[in-house]
Amino acid sequence: MERKTVNTILTDEFEEFLKINQLYTKFINNELFCFYCKKPITIENISSIFYEDGPQFCCDEMECINQISKRK
Ligand SMILES: [Zn+2]
Repeated sequence: MERKTVNTILTDEFEEFLKINQLYTKFINNELFCFYCKKPITIENISSIFYEDGPQFCCDEMECINQISKRK
């Protein structure tokens, strides 16, 4: 029986999301950046997706996660 890890599921869903929003090419070219620190977003450092004039991304830096938790 094949079993997916949590990380694989998240990765698949994230890739699906990127493809739906036509951001996948940008993602694989390292052209998606963290909304706060502007670091390139990768599958390893993505922590959140939110909307502000379209989809925005947040990396897993403590400072960025703190910023996103202050929203709304
Ligand atoms: Zn960041």
